[in-house]
Amino acid sequence: MIKNKKNIEDILVILKSLFPETKTALRYSNPFELLIATILSAQCTDKQVNAVTPKLFNLFPTPLKLSKATILEIEELIRPTGFFHNKAKNIKNCSLYLVENYNGIVPNTLEELIKFPGVGRKTANVILGTVFGIPGIVVDTHVIRISNRLKLSENKDPTKIEFDLMNIIPREEWSSFSLRLIFLGRTLCKAQRPLCSKCNLYNLCEYPKE
Ligand code: SF4
Repeated sequence: MIKNKKNIEDILVILKSLFPETKTALRYSNPFELLIATILSAQCTDKQVNAVTPKLFNLFPTPLKLSKATILEIEELIRPTGFFHNKAKNIKNCSLYLVENYNGIVPNTLEELIKFPGVGRKTANVILGTVFGIPGIVVDTHVIRISNRLKLSENKDPTKIEFDLMNIIPREEWSSFSLRLIFLGRTLCKAQRPLCSKCNLYNLCEYPKE
């Protein structure tokens, strides 16, 4: 159930004024690099990802070359991003899948992208919105938390939240809206002790009154 639907237009306006720019901080020069950077960004800051990707892409600049790297080689390069065993395995398998099924060209549909190893709806929607300009709601831990606090969704499941938000946010705003919630989550609406008194959404949000 969506309790705060009536305020969605005001929420969108305030979010836009707070975060006019919605460019990803991840550095990439083609869809393949963004795919790998997004896999690396799980449980890790964009800054840390940007610190390891130049060397990774320099040594293995194509899907074919990265698919031929050993897991150990990848692990050594991406170690600072955390969860590096899993990420290295996913990066190698993802590159291999891309080479074998798409001749190294990243596809531009959600249905295709979610079949890649290590790629879920969240990563797929990042790729679609960022490099292909196809709107998608990206549901990460910040979007889950803030959607619940703002009563835009009462669900905890990311896919259900994605569909709740798709129902109330204009399609062309899907990608930018999710990025703005992520920025809000990193700055004001933190998991522990959100800075509600400093938040322009205060009057539209039930959380501080609970
Ligand atoms: S008022 Fe508080 S809980 Fe609501 S969106 Fe702002 S920071 Fe988050």
